[in-house]
Amino acid sequence: MPSYQSPVFPTDSTTNLSIAQFMTQYNPDEVPADKVIHVDTISKKSITYGSLREDAARAAWGLRNWGLQPGNVLMALVTNSNDFVILAHATWWAGAVFAPVNVSATQKDISHLLQIVKPTHIATIASKLDDVQAALASNSMTKTKVATVLSKVENLPQFPNDIIGTKPGETLPPFDLQGRSSKDVPSTICFSSGTTGKMKGVQLSHYNLIMNIIILRIAMPARVNSSVREVFFAPYCHIYGLTLSVVAGMWVGALYCGLPAFDLETFCKKSSELKVTDLHIVPPVALALAASPIAQKYDLASLKRIVISAAPLKKSVQLLLKKRLPHTSICQGYGLSETTGGVIHQIEEEEHAWGCVGKVLPGIEARLVDPKTGSDVPSGEEGELWIRGPSVMMCYVADKAATEQTFSDGWLRTGDILRVDENQNFWVTDRLKEMIKYKGFQVAPSELEDILLRHPDVIDAAVCAVYDDSQATEVPLAYVSLTPNKAELADSEKQKVLDAIRVWVDGQLAGYKKLRGGVFHLQSLPKTPTGKILRRLLPVKLKEEREAK
Ligand code: AMP
Repeated sequence: MPSYQSPVFPTDSTTNLSIAQFMTQYNPDEVPADKVIHVDTISKKSITYGSLREDAARAAWGLRNWGLQPGNVLMALVTNSNDFVILAHATWWAGAVFAPVNVSATQKDISHLLQIVKPTHIATIASKLDDVQAALASNSMTKTKVATVLSKVENLPQFPNDIIGTKPGETLPPFDLQGRSSKDVPSTICFSSGTTGKMKGVQLSHYNLIMNIIILRIAMPARVNSSVREVFFAPYCHIYGLTLSVVAGMWVGALYCGLPAFDLETFCKKSSELKVTDLHIVPPVALALAASPIAQKYDLASLKRIVISAAPLKKSVQLLLKKRLPHTSICQGYGLSETTGGVIHQIEEEEHAWGCVGKVLPGIEARLVDPKTGSDVPSGEEGELWIRGPSVMMCYVADKAATEQTFSDGWLRTGDILRVDENQNFWVTDRLKEMIKYKGFQVAPSELEDILLRHPDVIDAAVCAVYDDSQATEVPLAYVSLTPNKAELADSEKQKVLDAIRVWVDGQLAGYKKLRGGVFHLQSLPKTPTGKILRRLLPVKLKEEREAK
């Protein structure tokens, strides 16, 4: 079995520590307590290395008082802010499981996630309160306690003001595993559709979070240390933001400035003001930084390193960005929620490897496997990436079948197709799973197909990704077969029906899931004899049907 592995890995074990203990027991760069490590762009307030630990201890006391017990789940719908950071650390400090959700989730999305993780407590921004309460009601979850974050709503506690301990002694010690292994105790649930179907809860242990920090620090000491300054726009609820900004960055005492939403001008302005050293971005932002006149207005001379991750990147975009920022090292990283973020990474910019995602990080093992036979592919050939290592998730919450399908003899099947070259550099070439990545956000085709199939004019539907070069991202596109009375309409009338279907579907989706690629009609969808849609043939079939007219 040819497995690809980095030669350096620590033998030091951290299996007896919770993530909260790890955060307090190690101060790798001897960061002073008053060093600012997080700036809130809205309140302008900051968190220091010392205040994070103090506030987490006081807020954990408050959460416990509010009824949050070790092992309970706290669901959070909160934008990037100081309060997100404190809430996450306080939840871990109290021994509960932190389950952050994207604030653009619809009521239906929230309802689905509630069924998976069954939170005892929810902290939400006020604008999502109605959706949260309606989702709780539809699941008859009357006992779940709700607090708002960032603003006060009558009759509900606000985190942290109404919850945090204020008197001396109103603190908890960091959560103790009490003899259990950190590998067996969940700390976090992120959400991912995995290789197929609806959103699932990716259960990460305390060990997963700790090992992710250690791996990043060992592999990239220049990028994970107290002198790093970053502006971060990706939502902290996603594994990218959670592991980098909220966990690893806070552990080493780097400075993060979290934006509650992406706006190119604010992103560039803040990056320039803060004299950032590093940025972690997604491909569409790489394109915007390289090509937009807005980005040209700002001085980014302090910027030493950029990492582009979370979605496929075209080599041309990477090169364009290099041209705009010739003194900045531009690298790629690859990871999944299921692997607690990065597992393959470019450490240094390599002139002859533009477009590759880099090498396997320390402690991680990778194989490239023929998904049909389960055997390793010959060297140089493409195969499905299988990953094993200390940052690989525990399981999908309450979904034994999906967990079993995703693991094979302890290896996580990523659903991505890669190849590796003679320098051990990996290249993402394709995706086996049906996931679409819109600007780094996951869109599950099956969710959109379920909605399409409920439309009275639709008898069959398939959703897949199409690449939009102008935005450097995949966008979801639908192929539908219409009912006979609609299918036989003249083209202009049929287009009106398709447009109406698109509006109807988009109205039921979170913003990032909308059918930006459009809706197209096919007389019939190409399928295997067993009825599985042949997604790759969909554009071919559309072309054929159009040419046949
Ligand atoms: P998520 O769990 O949301 O981080 O999504 C993980 C998926 O994003 C992976 O399985 C890949 O399909 C995709 N992905 C992440 N990083 C990259 C990358 N550098 N290039 C291509 N696809 C990527």
